[in-house]
Amino acid sequence: MKILILAEATDGKANKMTAELMGLAGRLAEIVKGEVHVALLGPQGSETQQAAGELVALGAQKVHLFSHEALNVYQADLYAQVLHSLFREIDPDVVLFGNDIIGRDLAPRLAVRIGAGCSMDCLDLVYNPERGSFYGIHPVYGGNVINFLSSRRRPYLFTIRPRCQEPAMEDKARKGEIIEVDISMDGIRQRTRIVGYSTSSGGDVRLEDARVIVSGGRGLGGPEGFEVLKELAAVLGGTVGASRAAVDSGWIDPNRQIGLTGKFVSPQLYIAVGISGASQHMTGCAASKTIICVNTNPEAAIFKRAQYGVVGDYRLVIPKMIPEFKKILKE
Ligand SMILES: Cc1cc2nc3c(=O)[nH]c(=O)nc-3n(C[C@H](O)[C@H](O)[C@H](O)COP(=O)(O)OP(=O)(O)OC[C@H]3O[C@@H](n4cnc5c(N)ncnc54)[C@H](O)[C@@H]3O)c2cc1C
Repeated sequence: MKILILAEATDGKANKMTAELMGLAGRLAEIVKGEVHVALLGPQGSETQQAAGELVALGAQKVHLFSHEALNVYQADLYAQVLHSLFREIDPDVVLFGNDIIGRDLAPRLAVRIGAGCSMDCLDLVYNPERGSFYGIHPVYGGNVINFLSSRRRPYLFTIRPRCQEPAMEDKARKGEIIEVDISMDGIRQRTRIVGYSTSSGGDVRLEDARVIVSGGRGLGGPEGFEVLKELAAVLGGTVGASRAAVDSGWIDPNRQIGLTGKFVSPQLYIAVGISGASQHMTGCAASKTIICVNTNPEAAIFKRAQYGVVGDYRLVIPKMIPEFKKILKE
């Protein structure tokens, strides 16, 4: 059985999502006695080569290396075409993408081209040996219900939510093949063009990468409430998130929004402050390892979802938490 992963690498290094996909692929390959293939697309040069070597160390048996100047940055049409050609050649049973900007865009494009199903935003995969099929675990209704998503037949395409899988550990003793594939960009219709980049103003740590998130909602009462949350986040080495109500009120940058129409996060610790726990919000943070909430209303739905809850006004609670955490973390 062949498992294919789309790798993402910058500056010669596979990103965290790729290491997590490699971890998952390695575990699946052990169960199904399969082979892990990786597609790596990037510009010509030593950095792409270096990333290919790292992917072998992470457990790839075969790295299909496509290097071309046009693949310097993600371009949907080019990537879809290259991946499609690889798919036709190696005919994998399972294809894994990160549920990030690239994976969410590319997986359905490949699915349409090959006439396959595509199960999006899965936390984990399960193998059914009787049917020889794979199922993706996908939470809905704020994590209250778990859906098992699959396709009727192979190939199985999945996007996997970041921070839900143990990353593969590098082992330089691992052996694998790096296959340099000749590619021609002739005849590829490129319907999009990158016209420039701008840096997000949303904060230092990406929400998707954060191990600790302190989120604020309408209960903060105004933008100034986020100042004390930022202070707490800094003490915990985390970052600040928000509910849609806080974003819609203009209190914080929209790219901090967590939930159905915002970001999906999976930190070790999620502190929800002045957030009621609407299902659309909880959908985005249901994969958090531990949830703590601070809310004046003991009947708020968030208390049913949090492992620890404080009933109280955040203006009193958070300033008391900050020195306590400082003290504990120092010890
Ligand atoms: C299609 C759709 C998509 C949506 N997508 C999203 C999404 O992506 N993300 C999202 O968050 N929402 C989303 N929503 C909105 C969602 O339904 C809720 O309206 C929203 O999450 C509520 O935000 P909130 O919890 O901050 O506000 P509220 O529901 O108003 O809750 C505020 C809470 O603060 C508490 N509080 C008040 N004062 C204090 C205080 N001083 N100290 C402590 N606690 C206090 C209150 O008791 C209350 O529980 C979506 C809705 C729809 C219809």
